Amino acid sequence: MKITRIEPLVCHARMRNWIFVKVHTDQPGLFGWGEATLEWHTRAVVGAIEDLSQLVVGEDPTRIEHLWQMMHRQHFWHGNGIVRSTAIAGIDIALWDILGKVANMPCSKLWGGPVRDHVRTYCHLGGGRMEDFYETPVDNAKRFAELAQQAVADGYTAFKSMAVPSTLPLEGMKPVRAAEAAVRAMREAVGEEIDIMVDCHARPSPAMGLQFGKALEPYHLYFFEEPCWPESIEGLAMINRELVAPVATGERLTHLAQFRDLFAARGCEVCQLDITHCGGLSEARRIAALAEAHRIALAPHNPQGPVSTAASLEFGFAQPSYIICETVHNDVPWRADVVQEGFTIDPKGRIVRPNQRPGLGIEIDEAEVKKHPFEQEVLQRVFLSDGSVGDW
Ligand SMILES: [Mg+2]
Repeated sequence: MKITRIEPLVCHARMRNWIFVKVHTDQPGLFGWGEATLEWHTRAVVGAIEDLSQLVVGEDPTRIEHLWQMMHRQHFWHGNGIVRSTAIAGIDIALWDILGKVANMPCSKLWGGPVRDHVRTYCHLGGGRMEDFYETPVDNAKRFAELAQQAVADGYTAFKSMAVPSTLPLEGMKPVRAAEAAVRAMREAVGEEIDIMVDCHARPSPAMGLQFGKALEPYHLYFFEEPCWPESIEGLAMINRELVAPVATGERLTHLAQFRDLFAARGCEVCQLDITHCGGLSEARRIAALAEAHRIALAPHNPQGPVSTAASLEFGFAQPSYIICETVHNDVPWRADVVQEGFTIDPKGRIVRPNQRPGLGIEIDEAEVKKHPFEQEVLQRVFLSDGSVGDW
């Protein structure tokens, strides 16, 4: 069996261009789906997939680890930059889909699963609608409360909000009070039984991240995400040590060695590896084993498209320390037209029952994908109160 072609298919989905990766084989009807979505880097990732194709076309698609090693180590430059690690991930996920189809079993079974009956999911405020999740001003506590109630009405028992604004490295208490008011409003709106998460998007400095975290402690966050830059491992470790709320991070890390350093410093309690960025399912399994040794929970970052979701869920059915999966359902109204999924979602509680189909269990409708060709992503820039550059 040989890989004959690797085909990236770009599908514009408002905030992101989903990059689906179709790995073709010489066996009739046998192919695999992966995803390599990387917002604002679409052309670069498509180019990186073309560059990597030279290494793997003509090879046996079932030798996944061997191919992963080639994609990561050959061509001299290791594959730990975000563009290439995302491209590797897209191909790697598709290879696992192929292997599952060859074995006629879901990917989770290839890895010894399922280890649980269902996977819990959480949503973004607004279900991933860009304007609700990313653009609700932090000083609009009432709107945060409305969106929180909507998430619960949609069946979720957990949701994530962006209730921490961009700030200068030190900025006094005004933004901290605004964040506190927004989170208080959400807590009052949904009660104590619902899990609330706050994603700081690595906007704060470690000092500001700690101030935000301390102010939000009374509202008992399920986790407190990216409270400072991912590069600042000592900042993450300091905040994680000082707070009761568990720190979550990892979506921007691209190689096992980066997770090793994060875990060794105890920079988080929740590892948010992104299967489409960290090098794919092959590398995600190694990261998960390392997290297991540190008793760190897994909650994959997954705001992308439907192949990423299917891969994140298959992974969850095979990983004991997996606690919850990020999902979006309202980013584009035609999301369900593009994909047929093998797993089922219980509308009450939004828990996912395992896929029984081979591989990732998904079918992508290529005619639907073609209706949404590449468009440049929406420009998102942040400038702080003095005109200096901030983090989005
Ligand atoms: Mg995040």
